[in-house]
This record gives sequence, structure tokens and C-alpha cells, in this order.
Amino acid sequence: MTHTDFMTLAITMASGCKPDDPKTTPCVGAAIALGEEVVALACRGKEDHAEKIALDIAYGRGVDLTQAVVYTTLEPCVGGVRRQRNESCADRLIAAKVKKVVVGIHDPNISVCGKGFLRLQEGRIDTELFPSNLAEQIKRLNRDFILAQQRIGARITSHKNHKDGEFIPIPSGGEIELKGTWTNPPSDGERLCAIVRTGTQWWPQHELKLIAGSTNEWSTVINIGQYGLHIISIGKLNRLGMALFDYYSTVSNVHIRWRADLRRKYSDPHLKLEPSPWIGIELSGSEPPKGIDIEDSICLNVLPPTIPPVTPANQPEGASGSGPRH
Ligand SMILES: [Zn+2]
Repeated sequence: MTHTDFMTLAITMASGCKPDDPKTTPCVGAAIALGEEVVALACRGKEDHAEKIALDIAYGRGVDLTQAVVYTTLEPCVGGVRRQRNESCADRLIAAKVKKVVVGIHDPNISVCGKGFLRLQEGRIDTELFPSNLAEQIKRLNRDFILAQQRIGARITSHKNHKDGEFIPIPSGGEIELKGTWTNPPSDGERLCAIVRTGTQWWPQHELKLIAGSTNEWSTVINIGQYGLHIISIGKLNRLGMALFDYYSTVSNVHIRWRADLRRKYSDPHLKLEPSPWIGIELSGSEPPKGIDIEDSICLNVLPPTIPPVTPANQPEGASGSGPRH
């Protein structure tokens, strides 16, 4: 068998995987070659990774792994992402002193990607990647997994003890603290922000901040300036989103300063300024601004503390008030 045959064999093994949840579990295949012979084949099990299973088979057969080449369709995992540190496939391959590891694709989890390679190289193991046409086949097999991993996986957990889209009252306007989790930590320079919609207006909010002492819990403050239905979304700002948020904050600050100047110069009855200095982003549809990749949303119906909850059917038309404060 040739080098390409071994890679194809590993892909065939991967295609035999039937994960319960393809978003969280990848399809991975591994083949171990000694010269032109295959000495072990494995695909990812429910618990064990393909590389571990293949190595165990090779050990069972008493194979001299120092001359073996391991073909795996996914970058071997590293200690940081395993529950038990010394359980990583990269460390197992180093301990086995295999000659070379040939990898199908990098780990699509952006916080892990490349670390398996670095770990193997630190362990003085030669590494190589599958050619792009074979990598394409692996990506097709793992489309859901790759998509899910490349999202931050941010979820809102507070105010979430209700079905999505249900209306829940919160006592009054002002600030509410929103909490949640994320599966993949944002990379350097990535901004995760909240945005609120009331009617056709969108109100940029603040960044999601990691809660001290936690690795995957965030909190942020949402400014609620009016009663009525609020759609609160969290998402990653792409470059357009960052420009939009920066533009919004600059324009808002200028707006507020000029209003204050006007108020100093003229009496309020003469000016008749709108009650709130805050201006939202006006969009025609219910879709969020293009610059934000939404990860999760909740619906809140903000009610005055003295008024009992209303159902969507008798929700007053165009409930008005002041916009969010920042
Ligand atoms: Zn592994």
C-alpha cells in the first residue's frame, strides 16, 4: 500500500463513524502503517479517540511503533482540551515514539487548532498534512462539527428558564444583568457584544466579559430604557459590526454633547427635544444588522412594576419611552 492508500483508508474509517451528535463529535479515522503494511485501523468510539484505539491495537500486536506512521483524519488532541491531562492523543503518540504522524485536517476548534501539531513537534515527531483533495473529503464528513466548532457557542443562561420567544416580565426599566456561557473562548481581537431590538430599532449594548475565576461564563449589562417587547441578542462582531458599534458610540456621544449644549443655550419648552438622547439603529426588517453573527437570543417583555403582565395579544401598540441608556 502507498502513502495515499493509507490516507484514503483513514478517511474510509472516519466515514464509518456514526456520532450521536455530529455537532459535538467529529468523524475520525486512524490507520497505522509499518512499511507497506497496515497494522491497525480504528474510528472514533463513543469515549475513546481513534488514535488511542489504533495505538492500543498496535500495542496488542507487539508492533515496533518507532518505525510506524500514524494516519489520522483529525489533528490529535492536546492535554488542555481533555478532561484528564495525560490523556491526550498527541502525548500518547509521543510516548509511543512513532516515526511520523500524517494529519487530515487541523482541529476546527479555533482555540485548539494547531496545538496538536506543535505538541507533536515538541515531542520530535515528524508531521505532515493530507493533500487538499483528501482534506476536502474529511471536511465534507465533518461539516456540522466544523460549523459548530467555529462558532463561539455563546449561550444566554440567565432569564432563560422559559421557552424561547415566551414573554416574561422584569420589574422595571433600567439595567439588567445578563449571564451566559460560551463553548469556545473568543480569540484575541474578537468582540462578543449584546444588541437589543425594540420595534424596528436596534440598540448596541456592551461587550460580554468573562466572569472572574471562570473560563466559560460571561456577564454583561443590558440597558433597558423603555417598556415593551425586547429581543436581546448576543453575537460576534465581524469587521462590519465593529465599525457599526464604533460608529454608533461616536455618533451617540456627539448627539448627547450637542443636546446638552442646546439645553444650556435654550429653554426646554422652546426646544421640545425628544425625551431620550439615545438613538437606535433603524432597520427595515427583523433581521439584526449584518455586522453581528448572532449566537443566541431571548425575548423579554419589560413591564412597569405596578402593571400586571400582558400577553402578546393585548400588548400596547408601539409602547414608547426613552431608548436604552449607555
Ligand atoms: Zn484524542
